[in-house]
Order: sequence, then C-alpha cells, then structure tokens
Amino acid sequence: MICDNCGSKETYVKEYHHKYNDIEFYSKRRFCSKCNNLVYDEELDNEASKKAIREKNKILGVDPDKIIALRKKYNLTQEQFSKIIGCAKKTLISYEQGTSVPNDIYIVTLKMLLENPNIIKPMIESNLSRYSQEEYQKITSKLSIIYDEEDNKKENQELSKYNGYTEYSLSKVKNLILYLSQNTILKTKLLKELFYCDFISYKNIGKSITGLEYKKYQFGPVPRNYEQILNKLIQSKSISLNLIIDSDYECNQISSIEKPNTKDFAKEELDIINRVIKYFKNYSSKKIVDYSHKEKAFTDTKENNLISYDYAFDIEDI
Ligand SMILES: [Zn+2]
Repeated sequence: MICDNCGSKETYVKEYHHKYNDIEFYSKRRFCSKCNNLVYDEELDNEASKKAIREKNKILGVDPDKIIALRKKYNLTQEQFSKIIGCAKKTLISYEQGTSVPNDIYIVTLKMLLENPNIIKPMIESNLSRYSQEEYQKITSKLSIIYDEEDNKKENQELSKYNGYTEYSLSKVKNLILYLSQNTILKTKLLKELFYCDFISYKNIGKSITGLEYKKYQFGPVPRNYEQILNKLIQSKSISLNLIIDSDYECNQISSIEKPNTKDFAKEELDIINRVIKYFKNYSSKKIVDYSHKEKAFTDTKENNLISYDYAFDIEDI
C-alpha cells in the first residue's frame, strides 16, 4: 500500500480514535511511516465504516444485535419480520448486519418494537394486507406460543407448594402429554395421569416434573388451565382429539401426532412416568377418577381450589 501524500510504501497499523459529531469509537487504520498520513486499506476502512454505522444505530436506538435478538425471540424469519416492519427483506438484512442506517420511518417502527415487543401483534393486525393467509397463520401461531410462555412465567414465577416448588416448563408439559398419549388415551385419564406423574415425582424426588398447578374439579384433580394447554397442542397439530361414543359413554380421546422428546426428562422422571403408565394401564376413565377421589389431595381440597403438593406424601407409591 502506498501513501497518497508522499508515495512511501512503508506503512503501519494502529488503533485509531474516531470521532464524528455524536459518534465515537476505536478501530484499526493504516498510516504512512514517513508522513503519518492516513493510508487507504480496503479491509480496515470497511471495518471502520461498519463500526461507524453500528455506533450510529446504537445511538438511534436500533442496535443491530437487538434487532436480531427481537426477531429470534419471536422465532420469525427475516422475510416475516421485514413484513412486520414494512421494509424489504434485503433492507432488514442490512440493518441486522449493521451495513446501513435505517430510514427515519423504519427507525420509528423498530424503536417502538424494541421498546415494547407486545405491539408486534397489533402491528400485524393493522397491516393484514401484507400477509397471505398462510403467512398470517404461521406468524400468529409463533407469537401465541411466546405470549403463552410469558403469561405462564408471570403467573408461575413464584415457586410454591402449588407448583411443587418447580418452575413451569411448557416444553415438559407438552412432552409429557405427547408421551402419555402415544397409544391414544382418554382425556379424563390423561389429566389424572399428569397429576400422578407430578405428585409422585414430588413425593419421590422433591420436585414436580412440569411445574403445573392442579385444581380440584368435580371429576378429580386436573391441571389448572388444561383446556388452554390441550387446545394449543391441538392447534399446533401436536395431538389430535377425537370424540368417541362408546356404548352410552361419551369420551374424548387424545392421540399424539408429534413424537415426544424424552430427552426433556431426567432419568428418574421418565422412570416415574413409566410406572404411572404401567400402573393405570388397564384402568378405565371411571376407575381412575374413582381412584383419585380417594386421595387426600382431593378430599381435603375445596372445589375449584388449587391442590397443595404437600398431599403428595399421602399418595400411595405406584
Ligand atoms: Zn506519507
């Protein structure tokens, strides 16, 4: 590399303090050894201008790393996220890579999204024409999973005797339901088996498996928001629900569609789950309901109230 100023070929690289208007940063630049003039170096100069754009974006409140983190949080593709913002996909890519400074209009949108990610849903709703029906469904189903997870985190943040002092895990709830319904199971029976898996786990290893809370309903202990949980799994096509009419009995049958991920469970948890399945293998819905009605967890809890995991110690080993 040659110095434009004096023609010398001797150059050196040093950390340079850049300061223009409101931005300030350090990056390596090349200088002439004779006259100390700045010497053009494609690689270093590109790096410096990238840094300049990054710094500028940070000051504007649209830090590329935060944009990527926000998009990933909602599990959105660049294509989907660019539609939400209203820009072209390649424009979003340049913001994420920090190779360009967003236009004023996109800055406003991006800042709003970064400051308050909850507006993502209303933003989609107010620009429905941007999405095909399929895209809309894909995006909103991704969002609903995140929103539900956040809701559950909020609700269940405090560890207590009602969740078995265990943090709620949506993925464990899902995998446990998938595991229990592998060979098709009646809904009522599934709800009871969830209860036994969690309570026996609490009794044996001091923690529930899923962190679910259980309520006393007239037909036994059931996960507090089981309708919501099952609906979500049906919507995401993880399980299917079939109404079967068995003699004069009306029953809901649940079958897993997705394969459970057993790696989600510790070995001792899986052992408990298998014991519960084996024990109730030949139980009808009615029989397991009657069985659960004898538990202190059921008899000593008021209807519609949460059941304390303390009662786990009164449950017979299975
Ligand atoms: Zn020079």
